[in-house]
Amino acid sequence: MKIKRFINGPVFERKPVFFIKLVSVLMIFVIISEILFPVHSNAAERLLQISDPVVIVLDPGHGGSDNGTMSGTYLEKHLDMYTCVVIKQYLSQFDNCVVYLTHEADVDMNFKQRADFAASVNADILLSVHYNASVDHDLYGAESWVSLFPPYNAYGYQFADIWLKTAAETGIFLRGIKTKPKSDGRDYYGIIRENVERGVFPVIIEHCHIDNAKDASYCDEEADWRKWGELDAQALAKYFGLRSTALGVDYSSFAYQLADADPAAIQPFTKRDDSDPDFCNITHKSTDYDQHILTLTVTGADYDSPLMYYDYTLDGGMTYTERKIWPGFNALNWTYDESFDLNLEFNDGDKPDIIVRAYNIYDRRTESSVLSFDTPLSRPVPGPQPVEDTKTEENITDTTTESPKETHAENTEITKDETIGGEAGLSEFMDDLKKEKSGKESEAALEIKQFLSIILFMLVSISVLIAAIALFRKNRRRRR
Ligand SMILES: [Zn+2]
Repeated sequence: MKIKRFINGPVFERKPVFFIKLVSVLMIFVIISEILFPVHSNAAERLLQISDPVVIVLDPGHGGSDNGTMSGTYLEKHLDMYTCVVIKQYLSQFDNCVVYLTHEADVDMNFKQRADFAASVNADILLSVHYNASVDHDLYGAESWVSLFPPYNAYGYQFADIWLKTAAETGIFLRGIKTKPKSDGRDYYGIIRENVERGVFPVIIEHCHIDNAKDASYCDEEADWRKWGELDAQALAKYFGLRSTALGVDYSSFAYQLADADPAAIQPFTKRDDSDPDFCNITHKSTDYDQHILTLTVTGADYDSPLMYYDYTLDGGMTYTERKIWPGFNALNWTYDESFDLNLEFNDGDKPDIIVRAYNIYDRRTESSVLSFDTPLSRPVPGPQPVEDTKTEENITDTTTESPKETHAENTEITKDETIGGEAGLSEFMDDLKKEKSGKESEAALEIKQFLSIILFMLVSISVLIAAIALFRKNRRRRR
């Protein structure tokens, strides 16, 4: 009856209730859609203020008598130059930007000269373009180096985050966004140091390791260097929010979806870690004599930076496998699994002495103690091996080794490891399976959590609505 009176009442009396209802419904709608489809929850604007038009200086690493690193017939300086020329060509199709190279000929040029050039054209960014290599040829993946100093650290973090995400489209492993101090506290890398001193924002990009078999397919031919140039250009266009009428692409809103960063601080995911990982432990979990698989549980932690790679030995440390990616490692949000199962193949009669080494994002490592098997590993009661099982196993190995990245260099050290390659492939596959499963589990947990929060919110909203209506009615009655 009372409801009827409300509905039939004069318009000015109905309005407030209608308004409360409308606002409540809208609020519920907005909040539910935010829960279901969160929009760029940690998105931020580009912190760097840019000139109009944008001035981009590309710095081909090395040149002249400085070849950079080398692999086979390739000199890094040629790859760097090739890539820079492609970036410039690609960006020439974008509106409102001017692109320079610090040098276009194969000449010697020191860091001061490069930085002087960038400062002389009022560069918005100096992008130093490189290809990488490591002393022991054991590292692989793409990484970026940025300044230690605010606000350049935040600018670098925002750009490198975009660049690495763009680089990831190729499938390359990401090694993160890094900083390195010199003994005097300034930036270690001359190109970063000299530019910062002139007020120019510098970033170093290292595409991939030209001396590592895992990265070879990303940088061993001209098409790869061209591909990198195009991706670098896209990353720059996204960062600066450029648009190209010629290409029909518009990144003008992209620059407002950058990673959140604090211009007054050093970003947590760029923090230097000069200490070894805190621990790496291994324990025997199970032995499958039918499949000839020994399962260990590996537990590791680094309280300063994430664990990135691991490797292991079966012969007490004489030879190690190639470095494998630590399960759950993510270079952009610094996560990694605190423990995982490592499956190792064995032959009857093996007496392995196993050590696992954990590496952090700055390539510092800690090794586990030795896990030894004094009694030879063999099936207690021998029986025939089921044929079907062997077949499935072969199939599994096939799927993991079909990747073109999984080729081995012909140096003796790696050839020795090749015997372990098959089982390593398999154990990687097993790890991946587990990872996928746990990923799905946590996804399901997240969905339940979201569902519960929606229900909770709806209950609260309905209570508020009822209370508001009751209050209004009370006031109305009082007025009468
Ligand atoms: Zn270089």
